Amino acid sequence: MSPEDPMAKHFRLIHAQTTALRKLGLVTIRDLLYHFPARYEAQGSDASTRELIPGTKVTMYGTLSKLKAKKLWKSRRAITEGWFEDATGRVKCMWFNQPYIASYVAEGSFVRLAGTVGGNEKSPYIANPEFEVVPPGSVPSGLFGKASGSSAGGGSASGGKLVSLHSVLPVYPESRGITSLWFYHAIRRMCEKGAHKAIADPIPEVVRSKYHLPDLSTALVWIHTPEKDNHAEAARKRFAFEEIFIMQIARAQERALNDSQAPFLISNGETYAKQFLTSINFPPTRAQSRAIADILKDFGGAHPMARLLEGDVGSGKTLVAAAAAYAVVHSRPAGRKSGTLQVAYMAPTEILATQHFQSFIEYFSSEGGSASGGQATSTKIALITGSGCWKFPSKVTRGKPTAISRAQLLKWVENGEIAMVVGTHALIQKSIKFQNLALAIVDEQHRFGTAQRRALAKKSAAAPHFLSMTATPIPRTLALTLYGDLDISVLDELPPGRAKVTTRIIKKEQRAEAYEDVRRELKMGRQAFVVCPRIEEPDPEKMSALQAKSAKAEARRLQKDVFPEFKVGLLHGAMTQKEKDSCMKDFVSGKVQVLVATSVVEVGINVPNATVMMIEGAERFGLAQLHQLRGRVMRSSHPPYCFLLPETFGQVSSKRLRALEKSDDGFKLAEADLETRGAGDLFGRRQWGITDIGMEALKNPRLIQAAREEAFALVRENPELEKYPELAARAASVSGSMHSE
Ligand code: ADP
Ligand code: MG
Repeated sequence: MSPEDPMAKHFRLIHAQTTALRKLGLVTIRDLLYHFPARYEAQGSDASTRELIPGTKVTMYGTLSKLKAKKLWKSRRAITEGWFEDATGRVKCMWFNQPYIASYVAEGSFVRLAGTVGGNEKSPYIANPEFEVVPPGSVPSGLFGKASGSSAGGGSASGGKLVSLHSVLPVYPESRGITSLWFYHAIRRMCEKGAHKAIADPIPEVVRSKYHLPDLSTALVWIHTPEKDNHAEAARKRFAFEEIFIMQIARAQERALNDSQAPFLISNGETYAKQFLTSINFPPTRAQSRAIADILKDFGGAHPMARLLEGDVGSGKTLVAAAAAYAVVHSRPAGRKSGTLQVAYMAPTEILATQHFQSFIEYFSSEGGSASGGQATSTKIALITGSGCWKFPSKVTRGKPTAISRAQLLKWVENGEIAMVVGTHALIQKSIKFQNLALAIVDEQHRFGTAQRRALAKKSAAAPHFLSMTATPIPRTLALTLYGDLDISVLDELPPGRAKVTTRIIKKEQRAEAYEDVRRELKMGRQAFVVCPRIEEPDPEKMSALQAKSAKAEARRLQKDVFPEFKVGLLHGAMTQKEKDSCMKDFVSGKVQVLVATSVVEVGINVPNATVMMIEGAERFGLAQLHQLRGRVMRSSHPPYCFLLPETFGQVSSKRLRALEKSDDGFKLAEADLETRGAGDLFGRRQWGITDIGMEALKNPRLIQAAREEAFALVRENPELEKYPELAARAASVSGSMHSE
């Protein structure tokens, strides 16, 4: 058997199971063995069928017989019933939705059975018990009395050694159609056939022994069937290390590849950046100056820049990007007397791309003046989104962008006439070709997959300098794991004069009062966001529909019962781009005063007149995300407010939300979230492409650091990892697998 065999080769799978496995992303035997228990159920109190107390957890030894699958008459639910029998009597057992049990447990099998007693004392039963078939000899004497066990003849309990008695039972993440029990048995069967020994260990022996990590086959046994307390823990630590280590290998290789390429030469970058900074009418913050200096240094380096600019909402990342872009669009391609190097700027939404297009026009518009000394033509900037293309400056109306055709845009980008293109995903379409793309900038970069980011970088014949920007506060360990191939600049300072957002937790009885506060703001001509609770649902389409529904209802309610004198708008993820845009336009222009939205407003839209952010179901969001939402009203020159309206007032969530009242450092809040809620909650981990075990590792900076150092050292020695083919293969499979939301 090969670990790469599809599961279907070794298991007879019914349709529901195949579907379930696919949903869980499990295809091969290797995938199956890497499907780890989410937790372990401690063995309950040992009992006998004579004295079953409803509500208690029991673990008993005996036989299973008369298993029969049937369908419940009314609900058509599949149910398997049977009897568990020990020396003292018998008890009915039933399993729901597991029709196959009857077919694989032989009549009279001797089992260890664990479950919770249901029913009443007179007629107890056990629903959905876990069980495993054990050799009768493995039952320690005395466990169920002197009796001679069972009809299966398993009674010779004396002197038995504890062979496969696990102190805990693994509980696997399930999906509809497949149970924890199925995994339990399937994995055991594969291990009995030696599947766990057939997988090569991706962690080199030297690294394993340095950190006292069990080898792969041992760890697989330990994680699925721990026999001692520390087994599961040691195995989980190993797999956490493995996951991070492999990601770091991928990052190290990406970095090595980057560093092996020749960069675009940006001559006189410093001069132009300075020229740009004097042309705008405010001084950069110290943090901005530092970041710009980092970038200029990269521009003069031996390889293309690979940098992440991390800064809270409103910290002024666009200015840094503009300074870098300005230097690039004023540089000539090597050996040429005309034309300029080009910049591509990708943003996740149309609204954002459009706003940035305008920002760059503004930032670059002062260049026509004295600073550029007689250079009368200003930089040509274009915008491309799903709904069209624009260009600035316009030949027709001075100082305004004009709509152009796609064909025109493609032509002018390819012949180098347009120096800077701002756009959405539309930017990475095949048809768009640059003449000299020297700088690729990705805004809110976590919104894009690695593949999309790479596709943008590939728009250039030579490797462009690459600047990634994010306002998503994530803990340092996560940043190192995800962006380990990038150098990092941090904007840890907001431009001066920024109003601090007053954040308040609103109790149920204060709601009316809070609405009056909002009304006061609205009466003064300001605007408000109302964000609806996040609804978790594994199916993204269903989730979007549910959220849309709740947002619609909330908008209707607010319009009718709370703010009848104002206009309430609605923005949600299930709307088309066109609808979203027109809705945003109405809000920006002030036609709509209250905007009810799902968390789509999270990404940086700029509405300076909005001063209130109300967040319903606040406890359902991560702190970092709440902080980002709050950032939406920070751009105002009027004092902004953020009202948190939790649905429940539990201790933990109150404590979390209070952290938000106190702190306004997004990155610190992300760290706090990691501690109080656990890594799994960080924005929904799916988007990071890290498993639960890997996420747990993020709480352990030393593990991250160690995995990183070892990985970079190995790749430095030999980027292709010829000595470690398994490791190389695993790294290749993770690189590029990071998904966007
Ligand atoms: P973000 O980091 O969230 O992308 P932006 O780049 O959109 O932030 O900047 C937010 C606002 O701050 C913009 O209106 C911008 O003009 C302003 N700004 C940026 N840098 C400075 C500065 N050094 N001094 C004053 N205002 C600034
Ligand atoms: Mg921004």
